[in-house]
Amino acid sequence: MPSTFLAIGECMVEMAPTGGGTFAKGFAGDTLNTAWYVRKSLSQDWAVSYLTAVGNDQISEEMIAFLDGAGLATDHVQRMTDRTIGLYMIQLKDGERSFAYWRSQSAARCLANDAAALSAAMDAAGLIYFSGITLAILSPEGRQTFLSSLAAARRKGAKAAFDPNLRPRLWEDAQTMRDCVTEAAGLCDFLMPSFEDEEAHFSDASPSESADRYLKAGAAMIVVKNGPQEVIVATENDRRSFRPEPVRSVVDTTAAGDSFNAAFLAEYIVSGDVDASVAAGARLAGTVIQHRGALVDLSSGLVA
Ligand code: ADP
Repeated sequence: MPSTFLAIGECMVEMAPTGGGTFAKGFAGDTLNTAWYVRKSLSQDWAVSYLTAVGNDQISEEMIAFLDGAGLATDHVQRMTDRTIGLYMIQLKDGERSFAYWRSQSAARCLANDAAALSAAMDAAGLIYFSGITLAILSPEGRQTFLSSLAAARRKGAKAAFDPNLRPRLWEDAQTMRDCVTEAAGLCDFLMPSFEDEEAHFSDASPSESADRYLKAGAAMIVVKNGPQEVIVATENDRRSFRPEPVRSVVDTTAAGDSFNAAFLAEYIVSGDVDASVAAGARLAGTVIQHRGALVDLSSGLVA
């Protein structure tokens, strides 16, 4: 397997309130969060690359500098002359967070327009990671380009990991979301859903039912997360469950699933050990949720 982990999706500008009507600017997005944690988890023998599309403007340059600074390879980032990156603002009201988005015209929506560039990036990767949000933001043609490039890269030996991250508001309708996610699942070696989403949008009665549905769709290994409850790992011939270590002081669950996926995959591609991979995923996610924000720098000494 070539030693490149390639994550594909949308990274946005994040404006987070700092009080008194001022905001701190950051960068985040589900696949970016996972790439960021994978970079922290894998040795330097591995390249971790992020594929997205950005504009030609200053804020796009800042995002690329941020990715570079995090140790992520940016050689597959595409440039659009007539678009820029998306933005979201975190709003606080009575202690509750809500989000406002400006992403409908973001450059990342065009990341599959150049089929040759997308295929070249996928063909060079050992493991390709994407989410339902990656697919949701693409046009119907873009999704087909994405899935055919993925299928071709897999035929050449790449592995694929997918978190359905079901967000019906990003799709034209819920049925299209379900159909496209099911089609993508059939191309995946690792399918990493959160039961809360699957229950809401596929009406699964249990995490085991989600696993069965995705096995039937053709995914090889299903890892169903379920907040503090048991993680189920299912393949055609094996099914196990693991209870994450309880976390008493949950501060912010942002990126729980993204960080779990990162540590699980980083461990699995090195050791191939399911138990160790779930333990690594649950350990990292359990730490991340004890801190505010999506990207928690565990190397800064903040966390023992
Ligand atoms: P998502 O963020 O995608 O909704 P989940 O909420 O299912 O994902 O959480 C992902 C993982 O984070 C879980 O499998 C678990 O390991 C860990 N986790 C989440 N919430 C808790 C919690 N309250 N206590 C312990 N671990 C948790």
